[in-house]
Amino acid sequence: MSREIVVLGAGMVGVSVAWHLVRQGHSVTLVDRREPGRETSFGNAGIIQRESVRPYAFPRDLGTLLRVIPNREVDIRYRPGGMFSAASPLLQYWINSGKSRYAKIVPQYASLIMRCLDTHAPMIEAAGADHLVRRDGWLELYHTRKAFDERITEAHENHDRYGVEFEVLDAAGLYAKEPHLKKGLEGAIHWTQPWTVADPGALVQAYAENFQQQGGRFLKAEVQEVEKSGKGWKVTTDRESLEADQLVVALGPWSDKLLSRQGISLPLFVKRGYHMHYASADENAHLNHWIMDAETGFLLEPMRAGIRLTTGAELAGLDAPPKFKQLKAAERAAGKIYPLGERRDPEAWKGARPCLPDMKPIIGPAPGQDGMWLAIGHGHQGFTLGPVTGLLLSQMMAGETPEVDMAPFSATRF
Ligand SMILES: Cc1cc2nc3c(=O)[nH]c(=O)nc-3n(C[C@H](O)[C@H](O)[C@H](O)COP(=O)(O)OP(=O)(O)OC[C@H]3O[C@@H](n4cnc5c(N)ncnc54)[C@H](O)[C@@H]3O)c2cc1C
Repeated sequence: MSREIVVLGAGMVGVSVAWHLVRQGHSVTLVDRREPGRETSFGNAGIIQRESVRPYAFPRDLGTLLRVIPNREVDIRYRPGGMFSAASPLLQYWINSGKSRYAKIVPQYASLIMRCLDTHAPMIEAAGADHLVRRDGWLELYHTRKAFDERITEAHENHDRYGVEFEVLDAAGLYAKEPHLKKGLEGAIHWTQPWTVADPGALVQAYAENFQQQGGRFLKAEVQEVEKSGKGWKVTTDRESLEADQLVVALGPWSDKLLSRQGISLPLFVKRGYHMHYASADENAHLNHWIMDAETGFLLEPMRAGIRLTTGAELAGLDAPPKFKQLKAAERAAGKIYPLGERRDPEAWKGARPCLPDMKPIIGPAPGQDGMWLAIGHGHQGFTLGPVTGLLLSQMMAGETPEVDMAPFSATRF
């Protein structure tokens, strides 16, 4: 039965949900105040992370904590105000990162990650977006033998349990693949399955255009309010009001602003990140792959706009003004492994990963709100997980049994 459905938020998650719903034959309106894929789904590192079966845990070892506390690192920075306002979810995040709880979370998280390529593939094909996607994996670089060996051990476990494919490169193997990296690295893990996207925002835009070609409607408008109306929902925007049988909230890091007005309190917090594009200092130098300096915590991505440098996490409030010291530190560290040239953007991009304390997204019905569905909190891997979220949520909304056990992703767990 065809229904009127409104999807709020046109990031990778909302666009993917809308794409699946329109294919089921529903009349779908996708609403965003910006063009699709212009926020968090624009500025990320653009990796469809098939290797990332373990979500990013709160570091609990003393060595990492002592390293991070002076607040000068590239991988993690914090602002006391941001830590204070998110104290409760951060404490839960810390608790969930303990060994036994984390061990239960990993297979649940992996059940989504393992489907990421299979769910992006039909969307890429339908959208004619193949020119944006590379299928030759990415490289995780190591400076020290000890960290490299530990990661290789974990990679073997991930291979055995979750089918993660990789190749270990010694220094010679690494420099054969990336001859313009500066010498001194110990080696790398080449994750061979992931796909990389040369313009992440353009991929979301292509998916959104394909959604419209299939009969979906995109409305560029600011969502102001949602309220129950008869058996469905009324959505008030600054452009027009919409009536819907069903409503999907996929507003990424802004989701709790709307949900809290509905009396739904979820422990969402953000990990912010920055990016900047660069030329190569040496005009003959180039990168063949996306690379991550795993021990420092930044990535370099050869994108359409130049070499994109993305930072690790900044624990700060969503609306706190940007601070560029973390990016500067990443820039200095990146310059030690690659000849980075001049900056190409007038100012750095800032975004916010929408996070939940048990590292898993919420995908399913909103508690106590008949006809409202949630697709939020995809943290470090929302670009990867948008399409599988769209598939599974559309199956739930159709009353079908989804391919994956969805209990671990229910909002009722909070
Ligand atoms: C530096 C960095 C690197 C990353 N790298 C990767 C990576 O390599 N791979 C990966 O899988 N993930 C990565 N991520 C995470 C990923 O980018 C996010 O998880 C994902 O983009 C979240 O998508 P979303 O659709 O939930 O949110 P968004 O993309 O932020 O979409 C939410 C949308 O809601 C709209 N909106 C909000 N409020 C309103 C309103 N009131 N009215 C109308 N519209 C509204 C916004 O305009 C926005 O378009 C990275 C993140 C960062 C910050």
